[in-house]
Amino acid sequence: MSADRKLYEGKAKILYATDDPEVLVAHFKDDATAFNAAKRGTIVRKGEINCAISTHLFQRLEACGVPTHWLDTPAIDRMHVKAVEIVPLEVVVRNVAAGSLCRQTGITLGTEIDPPLVEFFYKNDELGDPLLTRDRLRLLNLATPEEIDRLRELALTVNRHLSEFFASCEITLVDFKLEFGTTSDSQIVLADEISPDTCRLWDRRESDPERRVMDKDRFRQDLGQVESAYEQVLERVLAQVEASSNAAT
Ligand code: ADP
Ligand code: MG
Repeated sequence: MSADRKLYEGKAKILYATDDPEVLVAHFKDDATAFNAAKRGTIVRKGEINCAISTHLFQRLEACGVPTHWLDTPAIDRMHVKAVEIVPLEVVVRNVAAGSLCRQTGITLGTEIDPPLVEFFYKNDELGDPLLTRDRLRLLNLATPEEIDRLRELALTVNRHLSEFFASCEITLVDFKLEFGTTSDSQIVLADEISPDTCRLWDRRESDPERRVMDKDRFRQDLGQVESAYEQVLERVLAQVEASSNAAT
């Protein structure tokens, strides 16, 4: 580990190289940012909580046949992942209207979206991660129509599994952002993280529109109790993981 070389520091994670060029370490930080890093702060224990939640969700998705970059989790806030070339797209799936969809279309917050909406954003902080159309994707040479179809299919599969899993935790998976990458053997795998930083999660035990929020919107909108919301998501995920492993034995 001491030989690990820092490759890149992002807003939420630091990537280190290892002795194996195919393997990276992703260190999850407590740093929180919103609005393209215009707002910055710290969420205590976020690194370990997001690392733990991502670990469980990646393991679960792998078990469902979705290829991911996850290899193992050697420390509470560190994951070994397959080194990939990140596809510069943020693939967003929405089951319930929230966030930019409401701002840009006027659809009321909380409106159910069925079938789920899949959207592609350009992963480019300088440009503010703009929404792309199919034609713009092609124009920018970011993905061929076949690749877009594949990403869309994978994102919808992830959505089916995660929506069901979170429902068993009494949490609604409102929407989420995925990143994909290409491995050295040209396989497309799910990369990055799946956590309350990248998902909107609403507590089904709460009807109040502010109290139900269990994700980074608490930080974005200064709703308070950010840490306890993240802790609560992890607690429910762990309880559900344990319940399903007991059921399997
Ligand atoms: P950002 O500031 O872009 O949100 P993060 O701090 O979340 O960045 O993550 C750091 C970087 O790691 C991001 O550019 C992300 O796309 C990239 N990344 C995630 N998983 C992998 C991987 N398996 N291989 C290479 N890069 C990865
Ligand atoms: Mg990120």
